[in-house]
Amino acid sequence: MINVNNTTRSYSGRPGCMCGCNGKYNESPRARKMAITQLTKNPEVRLLVWDNHTEGCIYIETETRSRVLYLNARGVDEARVMGIKEEE
Ligand SMILES: [Zn+2]
Repeated sequence: MINVNNTTRSYSGRPGCMCGCNGKYNESPRARKMAITQLTKNPEVRLLVWDNHTEGCIYIETETRSRVLYLNARGVDEARVMGIKEEE
């Protein structure tokens, strides 16, 4: 499971630009908790890692919606342990 303390923010919006014009970032623990629940129960969820494996996110992208949960290095490890597929 991903610990909410190992997440930094969630994002929900329409596909495309993620500067904030298309959706919303939310840093509240409640929003991050909800994102953990929604994303990890979905078999389409994928993991993306960057910055020399110190940061990443899990996300789901459909035609109408992008949902993202940003992770610190521990969160990335937890996502891997859960078996979330990593984007190549
Ligand atoms: Zn934008």
